[in-house]
Amino acid sequence: MGKVVGIDLGTTNSVVAALDNGQPWVLPDEEGSLIMPSCVGWSSTGSLLLGTEALRQYGAAPERTVKSIKRKMGTDQKIKGGEKEYLPQEISAIILRGLVELANSALGEAVTGAVITVPAYFTDAQRQATKEAGEIAGLEVLQILNEPTAAALTYEFRSPETEIVLVYDLGGGTFDVSIVEITAEVTEVLASHGNNHLGGDDFDQRLKQYFEEKFLNSHKVEVTEEPAIEARLLRAAEECKLTLSEKTFTKVREAYLGSKGKKALHLELEVSRRDFESLIEPMLSETLSAIDRTLEDAELDAEDLDRVILVGGSTRIPLVRRLVEEHLGQPPLDSVNPDLCVALGAALQAGVLAEESTESILVDVIPHSLGIAVVEDTPYGMRSGIFSTIVPRNSVIPISRSEVYTTATDNQETVKVEVFQGENFIAKENVPLGSFEIEGLPPRRAGELEIEVHFDFDLNGILMVTATEKSLGTSQSLEVSNATTSRLSTNQLQQSKAEIESLFKP
Ligand code: AMP
Repeated sequence: MGKVVGIDLGTTNSVVAALDNGQPWVLPDEEGSLIMPSCVGWSSTGSLLLGTEALRQYGAAPERTVKSIKRKMGTDQKIKGGEKEYLPQEISAIILRGLVELANSALGEAVTGAVITVPAYFTDAQRQATKEAGEIAGLEVLQILNEPTAAALTYEFRSPETEIVLVYDLGGGTFDVSIVEITAEVTEVLASHGNNHLGGDDFDQRLKQYFEEKFLNSHKVEVTEEPAIEARLLRAAEECKLTLSEKTFTKVREAYLGSKGKKALHLELEVSRRDFESLIEPMLSETLSAIDRTLEDAELDAEDLDRVILVGGSTRIPLVRRLVEEHLGQPPLDSVNPDLCVALGAALQAGVLAEESTESILVDVIPHSLGIAVVEDTPYGMRSGIFSTIVPRNSVIPISRSEVYTTATDNQETVKVEVFQGENFIAKENVPLGSFEIEGLPPRRAGELEIEVHFDFDLNGILMVTATEKSLGTSQSLEVSNATTSRLSTNQLQQSKAEIESLFKP
């Protein structure tokens, strides 16, 4: 195998790291920058722009620039880029390809494989799409690794005793919290929770909305609806937010946001840290409830935590640190770099998988319960569509589990196995992963035929479901990765790969 790397494919920024003599390093680009904005664009002449270059044109040409693609992963929503339309995994593949090129030149050798991180709370479809993005970028995806697990891996404080670490990860677009048990050899995620749609982007949106309200109050006119104005306001909101992590007040000035008759109207206001804090506090209190749920799932109290690690750019907001500290009764660790530690951990794991180093073993958990829809005999009669969990959330992976079910009616000829992931006891309230049927059942009375349903969940988060009718041994199976809306065929993958490749040709 060629050189392997660890990649933190973030909503806002991405980072690539590699091992050198067992030690992980973040690889810089030619200008020495360690972080690449997860931004892709097409210039007015149609050439590809990546990272900082793409981000730079966002204010002027948002319609030709793609940001926060991670939020669309796992959907089949097409994105216009230049003359063509792309799937989310193709846009992510462009970012990955850019990181690989950066790594190739930093290392002076070709990178062939990678561990790519995702939020612990990513669904199967989102993990699949991420894996596909890696394949389209021409990489062998060694593992799709949970971000908090990666962060915990870089944690240097390796004492001979077991340490229980809480990782609070608040980035640009996603939030998750995990409790990780670290011993000298094994890193195990005990529990994790999160929200795929909560992060710094939402704080920017909230602040932008606040600017618009202030503008309306002072001018009695709404801000003009126009993509370029929206992009400018969002950028101003993010700048304001960043300043307020350092200072307690800042001024915001944005010209030409609307007009009254012939008069152009501008926005000018002072925002205090306190103002900003009250805007985002409701969102942050949601993160504290997630901490409590995670502690509950791990059957631990706050006092049982040895360390608290903050990950993700948004944890630089002073209020975040303060709330987490008050909530858990201990200050978070300072020594771990919130922007780089995920990529560093991924590089360590890539090294383990590529057998460059065999320092530690990693144990991961599944983020959502997996099961099937069944008919249940309730005090109110037979009810269909009840969710029967086969693999509970937070089970350590890889995992194999079976359950035996019986037929619900006399002479039932077929059984439909509908697979879902989620926590609701009504099956259809959960995320459907696919379904299949076993046909030709022998005639028997209700409850007499036994069907064994077997779930196999591997390290990449890919699920294989097999159902077997026990008397005849008839069996059917389903690889769930094929059932998600965005799953590409091998042919499509090859086509996407060739297309992304051609974008990088000089
Ligand atoms: P990540 O996804 O971890 O790269 O985090 C990116 C998010 O962190 C973006 O929403 C940034 O605006 C935000 N961020 C980065 N630095 C700071 C800071 N100093 N204060 C507040 N938010 C920040």
